This record gives sequence, C-alpha cells and structure tokens, in this order.
Amino acid sequence: MIESVKSVIHNFNAGPSVLPKEVFEEASRAVIDFNETGLSILEIGHRTNLFEPVMAEARALTKELMQLDADHEVLFLHGGATTQFMQVPMNMLNENDLASYADTGTWAVKAIKEAKLFGHVEIAGSAKENNYTSIPKNLSVSPTAVYLHITTNETIAGTQWKKIPYDCGVPLIADMSSDIMSRVLDFNKFDLIYAGAQKNMGAAGVNLVVVNKNILGKVSKPIPTILDYRTHIKEASMLNTPPVFAVYVALLTLRWLKKQGGVAALEKLNNAKAALFYNTLDTLPVFKGVVVKEDRSFMNATFILQDVTREKEFLDLCKREGMVGIKGHRSVGGFRVSMYNALKLESIAALTDLMKDFANKKG
Ligand SMILES: *Cc1c(COP(=O)(O)O)cnc(C)c1O
Repeated sequence: MIESVKSVIHNFNAGPSVLPKEVFEEASRAVIDFNETGLSILEIGHRTNLFEPVMAEARALTKELMQLDADHEVLFLHGGATTQFMQVPMNMLNENDLASYADTGTWAVKAIKEAKLFGHVEIAGSAKENNYTSIPKNLSVSPTAVYLHITTNETIAGTQWKKIPYDCGVPLIADMSSDIMSRVLDFNKFDLIYAGAQKNMGAAGVNLVVVNKNILGKVSKPIPTILDYRTHIKEASMLNTPPVFAVYVALLTLRWLKKQGGVAALEKLNNAKAALFYNTLDTLPVFKGVVVKEDRSFMNATFILQDVTREKEFLDLCKREGMVGIKGHRSVGGFRVSMYNALKLESIAALTDLMKDFANKKG
C-alpha cells in the first residue's frame, strides 16, 4: 500500500514545538537578508543599531503583553530553563536559607535538586504519591522561606496550576516554560518567572526571565558575573553576546502574539482547544485521561488507551494523517498532545475526528 503524503501536518510536539508559519518565514528571510541590509542577522554585531532595537523591542513587548509594572525587569538570557534551576537559587539563597518548592513532577524535581546545592529546601506540597496526576492542594510554606517555587505547567505529567498560590506569604517564583503567555495571570504577583523559549515563545537557546528587582541583592556570597541577574539588568540584557537569532525569533513570536490580540485572545483560543480535546476524550471510552479533571493542563494533554495492545495502531493512524508528536514522554508512556499558542483549533478538530474514527473501529 502506498502511504499518502499529507500536505497538512499537525504538529503536537512537546518542545521544541509548533510556531506560527509567518514567524518561520520572516525568521528565514532574516538569515539571508536582515531588514534589507544585505546582511544576515547572523553576521551583524549585537551592539549595533541593527540588533539593539531587536532586544529593546523584545523586552518592551514582553512588558506590554504581560502588563508588567516598573519593578519587573525583562531579560533574555542564555541557556534553557535548566540553567534557571541553578541560577534562581544562586541569586536568592544564602547557605543557611530555606526555599520552599512544590513537587509536581519531573521538572520540579530537577529544580529542587539544583536548589539543594545552594541552601535548604522544604517540600511545600507534593503529588508524588499519586504519580503526579494532580496538583497538590493545601501547600504548607514556612514563613521563613525565601521564596516558593512552582512549575505552573508540568509538561510531562500534563498537569497545570489553575489556582496560583499568590497568597503563599513569601515571594513567588515560577517555571512557566510550557505555559508562558498562554493565559492571563497576575504576572506582577510573581517575583520571578522564567521560561525556556522553545515551547510557547520561540527557538531553543534563550530564556525569558522576568524578575522583580526588589528581591535581588540579598545574598552575601559573590555571584559569577554572567549568572548575576543584577548585571544583566544593568546591561539591558546585553552583558555579552546574546543568542541573537533566538532572541529575534522570540521577538517575531511576540509580535505575532500581539497581532492576535495579546494574551487574553490566546487564552480564549487555548480554552477552546482544550475544551474540544478533553470533551472528546471524555466521550470516547476507548481512551482515558491520565490527570484528575480539575488539574488537566491546557497545554499538554496526557492520555492512554484502555486497550494498550492498540497503541501502535493508533500511532500509525496518526502518522498516516500527518499528526506528529503524539507519543507520550519516554518516562511515562501513553500519549501526549501539546496544544501550545501557535497550534490552530483546526489541528485539534482534525485530531478529535481521528480519535472518533479510531474509537468506532474494532481493534
Ligand atoms: C522543557 C522544560 C524545561 C527544560 O527546558 P530546557 O530549555 O530544555 O532546559 C524546564 N521546565 C519545564 C516546565 C519544561 O517544560
């Protein structure tokens, strides 16, 4: 049998992941000829009147889209979110200080491991007991903790904080790598937010860091220059050569986001996608959601087949229909559908149609 080559690809990858087509088009043009200068964006100095406006606009647009106040600084830093697992406690903790972490899965566990290199860690709440299929309720945060760290969306488990613990009594820090700018939150109530760009914001290689400058400068030990948030703030996020292309792709994505109507408009679309997906999932008994309903992620939906012997059949069908990235993370198995900002509602409609077809077929 000849496999048909699908002209439409639906990209459900968890990260790096789907971005708007116009972002790819404009980014690729800039590699050849940036702003009609005859030069590639990859061959111009970063301290020039060509690149400096890119960084300035990316920072300003982030401030605008997240409606940040004057105390919150926006930085675009090297590395992935994994770098922030270390950089956050390095900037925040003295050796004898206590930090509070909510343990919601793989990413939280990695963040906790790094924090322990710099201070003491307490677990404010954990979902480990039930295999990370829910978000811990009733956090217990010591009033002496320097901060509480949460992972707003656990990309692998498929859980998401719907009710942010704004009132935890200590500064709030969040890893928002997989749901940054996907919904309206009171971003000013966070003292530090970080996100690797490659899920909702752009290309891999750059982190967005939003930090309330008032929480910095409280550790007594020296911090290496490149890892000190204060030097990056002072240098307007241009301490050294930034990852110029990744920053540019982030800028294009931010411009796209603004054109769509901003974070509120994306939230509406994301709600519609999640509703369509989960409603379909819940009406088809051959499938089963992994996460308790109230904590389901609107970015990464995890589910299984009741009859695991049909897994390959389902994946083959997805592949034939141009649906990529549906296989679950290697550590948890099953399936995962990622529905980031740039994923269109049509892609979820196509997938849910396919799921209905599959459910109607005998195994
Ligand atoms: C992907 C991801 C990370 C890791 O990001 P890197 O850029 O690969 O370091 C951390 N936290 C969350 C929530 C993620 O989804």
